Amino acid sequence: MFEYTPKPNSLAGKTVLITGGAKGIGKAIALSYAEAGAKALITGRDEASLIETCSQINRAYPSDSDIATAEYALLDLARADDQTCENLATACKTRYQKLDGLVHNAGVLGDIGAISNADSMLWQDVMQINVNAAFVLTKALLPLLSQSPSASIIFTSSSVGRKGRATWGAYSVSKFATEGLMQTLADELTETKIRCNSLNPGATATAMRQKAYPDEDPSTIAAPADIMPAYLFLMGPDSEGVNGQALNAQNGCPADFCI
Ligand code: NDP
Repeated sequence: MFEYTPKPNSLAGKTVLITGGAKGIGKAIALSYAEAGAKALITGRDEASLIETCSQINRAYPSDSDIATAEYALLDLARADDQTCENLATACKTRYQKLDGLVHNAGVLGDIGAISNADSMLWQDVMQINVNAAFVLTKALLPLLSQSPSASIIFTSSSVGRKGRATWGAYSVSKFATEGLMQTLADELTETKIRCNSLNPGATATAMRQKAYPDEDPSTIAAPADIMPAYLFLMGPDSEGVNGQALNAQNGCPADFCI
């Protein structure tokens, strides 16, 4: 695992938006950031799970201000465009004045299979959700992130976003594009107070992992909570100055064992 122990309350005073924050790795991020003192705005499509995750976080980490520790916004990344993201940015500005972090966590796997047989519509859906939506959301939120004294953007990558592998199709290509988006943006942000990096979670027991490896026993791989040190590092003060890096949440995870 990524070796890092943050200081207590390392994210106090920060507000972080986490896409796909109600389930899987995103839920663990929201919980760990709230435990570290941040306010979490989680987004997704499934309102029931968004409400449930917010309730769980707010019970565990009650707010000492008028704004709850965890709040949610509905955001379907399959339909995210400039207008929807601008609307979200305006709502965030009214509510929080600034954003200190943005975690592009939500993603879809698409179909596993050879490119020669890939469904073209599904290919475009995967690119829309995993890449295009991250682009439009980042663009809309940059002005709010620039209001922070030190902001961090985390893009979620994958082993197959760093080395191509047969049958991983649109998912793999979308993660390569995510790395390109991160590198290009990081270079543009060099002289600013905003940093951005990518993180490969490595094999982690979630619904996506189960879909990719249906015969795998989830207890044999990392749980979402196990990989949080890397997410806490990249959002907290100890990563100030780290920009444009492609990191792994699980050091030593064999490439052909990860998605
Ligand atoms: P899950 O399938 O458990 O969760 C995916 C999340 O993405 C859900 O919260 C879901 O929310 C959200 N999401 C999916 N489609 C949309 C959409 N159209 N609009 C908005 N939100 C959407 O996956 P993981 O937690 O495993 O994955 C999180 C990230 O980590 C992904 O980017 C994945 O590629 C990456 N990753 C995961 C690995 C693993 O082993 N688990 C390994 C390598 C990378 P909702 O249901 O509300 O739509």
